Order: sequence, then structure tokens, then C-alpha cells
Amino acid sequence: MSIAQSHSSTTVNVVPPRHDWTREELGALFELPLPELIFRAQSVHREHFDPASVQISTLLSIKTGGCPEDCAYCPQSAHYETGLRADKLMPLEAVLAEARAARQAGASRFCMGAAWRSPKERDLDHVCALVEGVKVLGMETCVTLGMLTAMQARKLKASGLDYYNHNLDSSPEFYGKIITTRTYADRLETLEHVRAAGIHVCCGGIVGMGEGRADRIGLIATLANLPMHPESVPINMLVRVAGTPLEDAPALEPIEFVRTVAVARIAMPQSMVRLSAGREDMSEETQALCFLAGANSIFYGPKLLTTPNSEQSRDRALMDRLGLSPMS
Ligand code: SF4
Repeated sequence: MSIAQSHSSTTVNVVPPRHDWTREELGALFELPLPELIFRAQSVHREHFDPASVQISTLLSIKTGGCPEDCAYCPQSAHYETGLRADKLMPLEAVLAEARAARQAGASRFCMGAAWRSPKERDLDHVCALVEGVKVLGMETCVTLGMLTAMQARKLKASGLDYYNHNLDSSPEFYGKIITTRTYADRLETLEHVRAAGIHVCCGGIVGMGEGRADRIGLIATLANLPMHPESVPINMLVRVAGTPLEDAPALEPIEFVRTVAVARIAMPQSMVRLSAGREDMSEETQALCFLAGANSIFYGPKLLTTPNSEQSRDRALMDRLGLSPMS
């Protein structure tokens, strides 16, 4: 019997996802002895997924830098001197060439990011054409363009967009220390527009920004108590970029990162929990623990928007050693 078959045979008593997680419950999960927490997360994971299968996405920055927002972790913000060169929106053919290369490397989803507060109508038309072009290649599409109106979300849906990424970044309480140019409520509103348009939601956060465990709990509680869980939940480890206000943020202890992944997996059992930014500096052992804790998605490719990502060859070697294979 294949792993997938044995895995599906255990799905009889699956508990439906909850949307009423209290911070106390999530905090108690964080406090569990690590073997117990990993066991629970892995048990939940196996109810919904093949534990040997990892979804692979590739992320391309289609419009880099010069962003008017002031996200304290971001080298693309125009508020900080990071030496990043601002680029114009990439033309269709250049983007499709990148998408073909990503497909060739095993990616099933192609994500495109633009450093905007929100897209202008002319730019949105171009992004819709990019989505249509990538869809023709047989890949899933995801874009991250900043805040959207309800109309813009519907337009993207009509172009065939599968996923929209818009992260909550942290807890509602900590958020204001990281971004002042738009509110948590703005973010939630965009997520509502995306959901209402029928686009899948990709939404997670960043840890290691100097927040406390209570904030990591607050982030997961907010995500898990949305009316529908995001289909993708990226958990990013801060990449400390020189020139940003967080360049000297204290590093998060790796086991705390693993615990965060495990609690996200338990609270959102049917979501793809994605290891995103920060893998470049993460040991293979920490990444392996994250897979045990229920992470089942990674970004592949030499760069995540503008920060370095784990080498593809290193990823392949690690997946081979762990016996993991790309999800089709
Ligand atoms: S994270 Fe996005 S919105 Fe924030 S500064 Fe960077 S590109 Fe702009």
C-alpha cells in the first residue's frame, strides 16, 4: 500500500476545522514538551495530507522596490536605504520565461509579487495578462500586490487567479510596531475582498521581528479564527536586511520557530503551512523538524522577492534525504 493510500485510510474520524481557538488553548500547545507537540501536529497533518509530499511554489518579484509602505522588515520600502534598485513592472514575455523555468524545476505554483501599496488600474490589467499567461502553462497562480478593492479582486478572479497573498504579519497588538502606513483592519478588509471574489487566500506572518510568544499566538489565533482558514499559511523567519529598522532584531530561537509551525498546523489542519523566507539561514535539521511539525510547502528558487532563498540544489538534496517528494 502506498503512503497516500495508507494516509487516506486514516481519514475516517477527521475533526472539522475549528474557528474558535482561544489564545489560552494555543498558548498551552506552545507549552507542550516538544515530542508531544510534534506528535500532535504530525497526527493532525496525516489526517489531511500525505506526510511525504511537499508543495513547491516559486516567487518572482515582477515590480521591485520603491514601495510607499513602511513595513519595518522590508528592503523594498522607499522609507529605508537598503541599496535596492527599484525596477519597473516586468513585461509579459520575461515573466513567462521565469514561469517556464520554475515549472521545469518542479514548481506547481507561480507567485508574482509587486511592491505596491495597492495596484493602479493600468497595472492591474497587466497583472491579469500575466496571470492568464501563466495559467496557459498549466501552473497555479498567486499574486501579491498590496491592498485590493472588491472590484479589483473580482477582476483578478476573472483572469483566472488561484491565490492572493496578503499577510497579517503579526498579532494585532504588535502590528503597529512594524507598519504604520496601513492598519490591521485594512489588511483584514483586503482578505475579505479576496475571499468574496472566490480567490484562495494565502496569508501568514513573520516571526523573529522582536515580537513575543504572545504575538505569535495572537497571529495564529487571528488566522485560525477567520471565517475560513487561509488555504496557504506562510510562516516566515525574519531575514534581517541591513538598512531596515529590523536589521538588528534578536534572532528567534529555532525550536521556537518549529513550535510556531506545529501550532499553526494544529490550529489550521487543512491549510498548506509554508516555510517561506528565512530558510537560507536555517539548518537542515531545523527544516526537517518543521516538516515533522506539519509544514508541507516551500518556496523554491534563488530569491524570495529580493532576499536570498535556499539553493534549489540544496533543497532537492534535503528532500531526497528526508524522502519527501514534490506535490503534483
Ligand atoms: S512588505 Fe510589501 S507593502 Fe510592505 S514595504 Fe515591502 S513591498 Fe511594500
